[in-house]
Parts: sequence; C-alpha cells; structure tokens
Amino acid sequence: MFSDRLKELQDRVRNAAEGSGRSAEDIVVVAVTKTVPVERIREAYDCGLRIFGESRVQEAVEKYPQLPEDIELHFIGHLQSNKVKHLPGLARWVQSVDRIEIAEKLAARYRNHGETVQVLLELNTSGESTKHGFESIDQAFEAAAAIVKLDALELRGAMTIGPFTNDEQQIRAAFAYLRGFYKRLQSAYPDHAVDTLSMGMSNDFELAIQEGATMIRPGSVLFGPRDSQ
Ligand SMILES: *Cc1c(COP(=O)(O)O)cnc(C)c1O
Repeated sequence: MFSDRLKELQDRVRNAAEGSGRSAEDIVVVAVTKTVPVERIREAYDCGLRIFGESRVQEAVEKYPQLPEDIELHFIGHLQSNKVKHLPGLARWVQSVDRIEIAEKLAARYRNHGETVQVLLELNTSGESTKHGFESIDQAFEAAAAIVKLDALELRGAMTIGPFTNDEQQIRAAFAYLRGFYKRLQSAYPDHAVDTLSMGMSNDFELAIQEGATMIRPGSVLFGPRDSQ
C-alpha cells in the first residue's frame, strides 16, 4: 500500500530530523514520480501529497496535465534548451539550473507566460562526470548573479545528487559542501528568499537531513524500484 510506504518514510524523516535537533515540518518532501504511471501518482495525491518531481520533460508533459491543478511540480532533471518551452504552466520549480543560458531561456519563457518560476542551482558535488550541475562554486555564483537580475526567476537555493557510493563519509562530504555553498548564497543575497537546500534521495535522505537538507527527493522508496533510470 502506498499509504504504508508514505507513513514509513514520514517516520524516518521525523527520526532523522529530531535526531539532529530539527523538526520534520522543516523538511519538504518532493515525491519523485519518474516512470510512475498517472494512476499511482493519483494514489499518492489522495494520501495528501501535493509536491512532485519529474526528471524528463516529455514524461511530465504526458502525465501532469491529467492530474489535479493544485499539484506543485518540480522539474529535477537535466534540461535541454529546446525543451524549456514546455515548462511554463507545468512546473513551478526547476531544481536543475546548471548553466546561465538555461536560466535565461527559462526567464524568457516564463515571462511570456506571465509566470515566475522558483529555481535552484544544481552543483556537481561528486565529481562524477555523468552528473550535471556546476563544477565549481565560482561558476554557480556567477549564475546566481545573473539569475537575480531576471524578473521571472526566483532564486531559492541549491540542489545536488549525492555520489553513487556506500561510503557514508563521502556522501556526507558532498552534502556538507553543498550546504557551505547554500550558506554563502544566503549571505550574498539577504533580500532574496534563499531558503531551500535540496539533497537526499531514497538511499541517502537521512544523511542529507542530518547535513541540513530542507528538501528531500525520494522516489523508489515511495513508489517501488524502477526498471530503468
Ligand atoms: C530519480 C531522481 C530522484 C529519486 O531517486 P530515488 O533513488 O528513486 O529516490 C531524486 N532526484 C533526482 C534528480 C532524480 O533524478
């Protein structure tokens, strides 16, 4: 049952939060629905979830117009320029801004639609070449400076995907690195609502919470294993 898995996740989030002197209410859960069919997303919605994540534009375009309008969809995958036009009216957040060019494209498209979009800067904190995201904090700061000048974009914080490893220290180090960047971003932009540190997936969300995540992105722990990524 989905409701059982959700309850178990919520218990684990609460334990991880309280174990590090935080409150579960301070952690936003984005339920990642890649490869999950519409009926099962609706089941999650009926259990009270409203915030969902998708990593492929095509899949989001096919599924989310069939779902209730009070859903807050987050785009979390690598974004190609030619796909940006599909996002206004569909995604309220883009967590995977990894170059200035894509920020500018998003700004143009959302402005035309009369909307704003909440954005996170994605950092590659693992050094894995298969991962997207800014390779350095300097590059990410340059993008932040460009983003705050774009009306249709609201700079909200930072996002990363933890390294694929069982080495807890390595995962924690990546998350701590992102937290360091996030804190600097907050000090650099005190007049902006920089309030979101998005890190932690099914395998590492407890570590992420211990390292300060304010948003986690579990998928398979809620919806079951995927056949392919
Ligand atoms: C797939 C994905 C997730 C969820 O992964 P799980 O391991 O299923 O929890 C989270 N964030 C991003 C960016 C993803 O692509």
